[in-house]
Amino acid sequence: MANLGKFSIGVGDRFAHQAKAQLEACILASQAGVDVIPVWNKSNREHTIIGSEPASVRAAADAAVNDLGWKLPYFCDADHINLSTVERFLPSCDFYTIDVADYIGKTAEPSSIDRFVGHHSELLGAIRMEAAAQSIDITPELLRRTAAKFLFAVQEAGKIYRKIEAAKGNGSFIPEVSMDETDSAQTPAELLIILAAIADEAIPIQTIAPKFSGRFNKGVDYVGDPAQFAHEMALDMAAIQHAVAAYGLPSNLKLSVHSGSDKFSIYPAIHAAIRQFSAGVHLKTAGTTWLEEVIGLAEAGGEGLALAKEIYAQAFAHSAELCAPYATVIDIDPAKLPAPVEVAHWSSAQFTAALRHDPGSPAYNPSLRQLLHVGFKVAAQLGQRYLDLLDANREVIAKNVTHNLYDRHIAPVFFGPAANQTP
Ligand SMILES: [Zn+2]
Repeated sequence: MANLGKFSIGVGDRFAHQAKAQLEACILASQAGVDVIPVWNKSNREHTIIGSEPASVRAAADAAVNDLGWKLPYFCDADHINLSTVERFLPSCDFYTIDVADYIGKTAEPSSIDRFVGHHSELLGAIRMEAAAQSIDITPELLRRTAAKFLFAVQEAGKIYRKIEAAKGNGSFIPEVSMDETDSAQTPAELLIILAAIADEAIPIQTIAPKFSGRFNKGVDYVGDPAQFAHEMALDMAAIQHAVAAYGLPSNLKLSVHSGSDKFSIYPAIHAAIRQFSAGVHLKTAGTTWLEEVIGLAEAGGEGLALAKEIYAQAFAHSAELCAPYATVIDIDPAKLPAPVEVAHWSSAQFTAALRHDPGSPAYNPSLRQLLHVGFKVAAQLGQRYLDLLDANREVIAKNVTHNLYDRHIAPVFFGPAANQTP
């Protein structure tokens, strides 16, 4: 049986050059006493923008695992797929992020809503979440309204799951259901009702990705109230534990935090919650690694720095087109973007200080960072020129990739505030 384990990290390797440096971060975690399972994720959207195929992710992951002698499980995630896009992922992937956010709000057959509400009277009233010493209150109106909003989406998830299961076989892959790419956050009560519906569809999910409140912009810190996030996450974890017991969902079911990279201000809350509930978590990152490639190139100086500047200039020139697919998950202030003619004079130190996610540094520029985050298409268009410079500067890039994943992500989330840092 494919089992994701308690702690896992999603890593994105857009140009299939950093799998080894990413796996090094998981090796550091194991050496420090906590196993964190790597999951290489790449969405259909990223494959389409770059012009790559899922087999390239699998090949890079397999090679890294082989080279470094990694003995624990690892997975390749068909990230944010649906019924129409899943096909090309079937040969290479053993983790499926079934994205049904687009179906939220589409109303299921009235008869199936009636049936769901009729079958789930146990969801009514004050449901005690033992683990959190709190209750979730669900009125008949809330149950019906939530079923009307989410049941169709869960039924769609069931169809997608069964298509994958027919191709891959039961138990041979990790199913996740994601609802994060939508307008409004799901409450813990809604999550509990959604989990009951997922159990009715017999989808053995090991992870679920709700939308949390606050903003999870790409590659930058959380925008919102960390205390409210902490409260919400604790109730979500309690709701998951309740649903596992009540509906027979897989016992290792856990939250998946999407756009989870760089959310430094909520990592203490995530760590506190996994401690409090003895729960697992899947922290999903992706583009943060591509930014470390650019940082590494800039740090290398010479041709590397020149190419990093060229990528910025191109991204600046095409920002409207590059930002469009990510409009809901970025907040760029155009007034804060330096002109490319200005950047052309920057030293390695100036470029890396603007881009590197060091919130305490006055030179750190979140707008520039977000623009480059969505600017990976520019590097894809540079093609072999970009890849050759990745190869030529392998060491300095790898150092940045490993350090970013381990010290800024794995350590604060899975080890907590007192975590050891790499030298
Ligand atoms: Zn997502």
